[in-house]
Amino acid sequence: MARTVHIIGAGLAGLAAATRLAKSPMRIVVHEATDQPGGRCRSYFDRTIGMTIDNGNHLVLSGNHAVRGFVETIGSAAELVGPASAEFPFVDLATGERWTLRIGDGRVPWWIFDESRRVPGTRAGDYLRLVRLLLPGADRRIGEAMDCSGTLYQRLLQPLLLAALNIEPPQGSLALARAVVRETLAAGGSACRPLIARDGLGPTFIEPALKYLAAHNVAVRLKHELRATKTSAGRIAELDFGDEIVTLDDGDAAVLAVPPYAAAALLPGLTVPTTFRAIVNAHFRVEVPPSCPPMIGVVNGTVEWIFAFAGRLSVTISGADRLLDVPRAELAQRIWNDVSAVTGVKGELPPWQIVRERRATFAATPEENARRPGAVTQWSNLALAGDWTATGLPATLESAIRSGNRAAEVVETMKAA
Ligand SMILES: Cc1cc2nc3c(=O)[nH]c(=O)nc-3n(C[C@H](O)[C@H](O)[C@H](O)COP(=O)(O)OP(=O)(O)OC[C@H]3O[C@@H](n4cnc5c(N)ncnc54)[C@H](O)[C@@H]3O)c2cc1C
Repeated sequence: MARTVHIIGAGLAGLAAATRLAKSPMRIVVHEATDQPGGRCRSYFDRTIGMTIDNGNHLVLSGNHAVRGFVETIGSAAELVGPASAEFPFVDLATGERWTLRIGDGRVPWWIFDESRRVPGTRAGDYLRLVRLLLPGADRRIGEAMDCSGTLYQRLLQPLLLAALNIEPPQGSLALARAVVRETLAAGGSACRPLIARDGLGPTFIEPALKYLAAHNVAVRLKHELRATKTSAGRIAELDFGDEIVTLDDGDAAVLAVPPYAAAALLPGLTVPTTFRAIVNAHFRVEVPPSCPPMIGVVNGTVEWIFAFAGRLSVTISGADRLLDVPRAELAQRIWNDVSAVTGVKGELPPWQIVRERRATFAATPEENARRPGAVTQWSNLALAGDWTATGLPATLESAIRSGNRAAEVVETMKAA
């Protein structure tokens, strides 16, 4: 009889694991607690502004090879769009200055010697600071390894590291920053092209994945929350879904691809990250002027990144715990003031929505990074996945997909009990 693999959680990690295993002779079943797959990467129709939006704007870089492999497999690579080269328009709201950072394609960073391509107010020598991020060594806070002040920091390193790690960079893990910089900036512009899901996260990542899984006879069961597990003789013996108990026979396996707090509740004793950072997104229904770039970085504002979509401007603010208790209407107005100043779209506050994800990512500190477990567990038929597992990357789509791929590999090497 074919082995059955139960994948718990239909976020990107679970979907990646299912996609990897879809062609194997094993029977694959995905169980998702909510009525919508996608987890923290999803689109939904928002009645307040009358359009489909993403829970959060997601930016990936061309060097995110697992993300690109995933969309290739599910047939939606054309949905991830971006400029032909690594260009990042920026505006400084304190001074009104605007510039476009243009990272050269090659590994040798010749672009830092070109005043018109580097950050205004910086000199080529300032970029030597990046070397400090790349030096090998034990994990510690970025603020202990590098001077977090000055123009290069404020206009490049702070926005880049905050977006990648979702934590104020001085507190962030040097090891995670190193991994990001090594795979992107240090790899040259060809690894730094910004890519955005043109028509949203659902049409790019989720719906094509579901189609791919259906075509390979993978079942995805929604509203099917795993409530408890029963272990016996070093393996998972039962999965308790409340209305149904699934017994894992010899050779059956499970992949737990749920957030860390859910994993810890299902597997008492598992060490996981326990502190988180928020991300705030704001969406405004407006006519977007053609002059507006698809994405613009903002320095010295409440907002950090503004994304332009058809009929909508959307904003991302990372490490946004300070904004969680600000009244919604007040926050919307404050954000709109920045958006208006940056894009030139004038007028009263348009129809808006604010999405505050309190536990958007685990806090990317050295302490929390050290609490991330690997895919292999003490239970012989269980693998872990999720952006919070030990992928060596901060909590991103790239991390989630790599974790799912790794869990699939672990399952493939498991022996029948
Ligand atoms: C607002 C926001 C903006 C972001 N921006 C970016 C970005 O720009 N670039 C980037 O790369 N990343 C970004 N991320 C991070 C990215 O979304 C995550 O890293 C990724 O989606 C995590 O996927 P996951 O599968 O690990 O976890 P999740 O997406 O959390 O998936 C876990 C799934 O498990 C389900 N589940 C939980 N408990 C159970 C249970 N008991 N039984 C069954 N199912 C269960 C959940 O419902 C969920 O569907 C952002 C995240 C947020 C929130």
